[in-house]
Amino acid sequence: MIPVTTFKGRRLALFGLGGSGLATAQALVAGGADVVACDDNPDSVAKAAAQGIGTADLRSVDWNGFAAFVLSPGVPLTHPKPHWTVGLAKAAGVEIIGDVELFVRERRAHAPDCPFIAITGTNGKSTTTALIAHILSAAGRDTQLGGNIGRAVLTLDPPKPGRFFVVECSSYQIDLAPTIDPSAGILLNLTPDHLDRHGTMQHYADVKERLVAGSATAVVGVDDSYCERIADRIERSGTKVVRISKRQPLADGFYAERQRIMEAHGGTATLLCDLDGIQTLRGSHNAQNAAAAIAACLAVGVSADEVRAGLKSFAGLKHRMQPVGRRRNVVFVNDSKATNADAAAPALSSYDRIYWIAGGLPKEGGITTLAPLFPRIAKAYLIGEAASAFAATLGDAVPFEISGTLERALVHAAADAAEDGRDVAVMLSPACASFDQYKNFEVRGEAFVGHVAALDGVTMLVEAPQGGT
Ligand code: ADP
Repeated sequence: MIPVTTFKGRRLALFGLGGSGLATAQALVAGGADVVACDDNPDSVAKAAAQGIGTADLRSVDWNGFAAFVLSPGVPLTHPKPHWTVGLAKAAGVEIIGDVELFVRERRAHAPDCPFIAITGTNGKSTTTALIAHILSAAGRDTQLGGNIGRAVLTLDPPKPGRFFVVECSSYQIDLAPTIDPSAGILLNLTPDHLDRHGTMQHYADVKERLVAGSATAVVGVDDSYCERIADRIERSGTKVVRISKRQPLADGFYAERQRIMEAHGGTATLLCDLDGIQTLRGSHNAQNAAAAIAACLAVGVSADEVRAGLKSFAGLKHRMQPVGRRRNVVFVNDSKATNADAAAPALSSYDRIYWIAGGLPKEGGITTLAPLFPRIAKAYLIGEAASAFAATLGDAVPFEISGTLERALVHAAADAAEDGRDVAVMLSPACASFDQYKNFEVRGEAFVGHVAALDGVTMLVEAPQGGT
């Protein structure tokens, strides 16, 4: 745990006592702050109180004495409308911050030189974060990995000289971290997502920009127009910018030529590493992730040889284009993490003939942008609330059935794929959120793996989840 000492002896309000909120309250109390915590869920409040955390209904306390208001990133700050606590904090002139802000203040107070890499973007955050942490660990660095992936940031070990922090940041966390100042900040890409929580694309982009604007070295993917403009703007204001691209040569920066990552300075490029043959980094999207990871690792003093060695031994992440089982001509691929069309595109691009399981809770835009990939789809098996809208988009272009549930979709897809004769993939890449049928994408992915394991004659490539499907 990182005891938060920067509010020692001061009074703070806190709302949201879920996983990271409770950890934040504990870290504040451990550092000597006087916390007044609140949640809509009485069980969460009782759990916090049992751990010695002060609790109260924040509707009926005097806000004037609070040094800060700590909000859980899951609670709306701005959209669709600010949570009622936000109004009270603003009316009393109390600053509103989150756990990442507490972490960056703690680092500044105790170990301002310890390397801190922060990662954001619409897609690829977790892969890039895990890849960087892996490169650092493999190179023997004392490495802490957390934030929006794995452990909440304040549950990590405290900042100290020589310790490296690799922190994935959602836009909600950045919105609550006004002074975020990474040694190397990464903005991978920007496409519409989570607009329900950010209102407009411009607001979403502005929030993401803050992470790189505050960085000593900003690593920015320049393959979309939002990020391209951000790179130019922060560079003009004096930030050191390293550009990366997965699709075009750059005069300065890191870019992919197919799976080869090139490093360019003043128009001269040299080969930094070849990702060919690294199964966990297949596809141009992973070239973008790898280029960003490389740029950030070099920026914090890791050598090119150490970076190359780390890339080669990266094991990849679950639920992201993960081959989970095989049966004769069929590979079963779990891409449950693809919760929007842009995230599903890389997986659909990586296989030539696909029995595609898609659907769930639809996101804005549906699957219209995937139309160029439809020729790769042998048949689609549609599930969840999005099924009829996806069916309308597929129209006559792709054979489909409305399967309803994931299990029925998989059983039907597996049977059809077995008859195909060619090498094919049965792939869950839903292009939707999971919440209509599952708690989250991980549970959906585990369910898929469980259903694959239950098929006859499948050789599993991963461990099947315990407890059946
Ligand atoms: P995030 O943490 O941002 O949600 P992940 O690394 O978990 O991203 O990857 C989620 C999915 O997004 C992957 O399964 C893949 O299909 C897709 N993806 C990964 N990296 C990228 C990228 N750089 N650009 C576009 N899509 C990507």
